[in-house]
Amino acid sequence: MPRHLHFWGVRGSMPVGGAETARYGGHTPCITVDGGGRSHIVLDAGTGIHQFQKTLPDPGPAGWDFHILFTHFHLDHIIGLPFFKPLFDARNRFTFYGYPYGGMPVNEVIHGILAPPWFPVALADVPATQTFVALTGEPLSIAGIDIQPDQLEHPQGVAAFRLTGPDRSVVLATDYERGVSIHLDARLDRLASGVDVLIHDAQYTPEEYVAEHKGWGHSTWEMAVEAATSAGAKELILMSHDPDRSDGGVDSIVEAARQSGFPIRAAFEGLSLDI
Ligand SMILES: [Zn+2]
Repeated sequence: MPRHLHFWGVRGSMPVGGAETARYGGHTPCITVDGGGRSHIVLDAGTGIHQFQKTLPDPGPAGWDFHILFTHFHLDHIIGLPFFKPLFDARNRFTFYGYPYGGMPVNEVIHGILAPPWFPVALADVPATQTFVALTGEPLSIAGIDIQPDQLEHPQGVAAFRLTGPDRSVVLATDYERGVSIHLDARLDRLASGVDVLIHDAQYTPEEYVAEHKGWGHSTWEMAVEAATSAGAKELILMSHDPDRSDGGVDSIVEAARQSGFPIRAAFEGLSLDI
């Protein structure tokens, strides 16, 4: 039986609202994979996690197991977490996974954001059970999904994940700037080698990737196509849309990227894949 991977937030940098972005959506990154039974795998806790929460039925006395993996701790990837209601239910269990950055392990980061004056409740007072796991590059197996993490290029670093379900494999490489390090590009190519679906950052057009945007940790759609081709991925999904990009602007990027002949679509809120 395949598992369902679902996109709840696909916007980069900051959440946006309004009619111009209604089709692809304005929530910041959150992707889930149903773990079967009581488990949910959550990749990043941007504002999209709020949409995910709305779909959760009452778990009953046994509660849910949430496995939350962070690509990195920039605000757009963590801002939804304090508002995720299952944290405030003692029946639920949370395991947080992340690479330490700048000597700060994942537990310190989470303690840092769930704390006054940024949020009225401190993590120590959150009723759900919490466990913290430092990623090291070792493979994980969570609820029947094999997960291989690796580290790539972004300000303060970023993790990419390869998830292998019963049917298909997916690599998530958001907030990655290709072309900065040949070594790290090759590392992503290895992680995504032959993958069924590569989800890759494509925040900029080539015209926008001028000096001002170099080193900001995001790629162009051309770089995403190069990554997918180089890795031998079967399909490419563009993600981390610029907050100033209208739906029409994303359409134009997809149209331009498809000139490559590669199977490409853009991530949108509500997109589901079987893996
Ligand atoms: Zn970032």
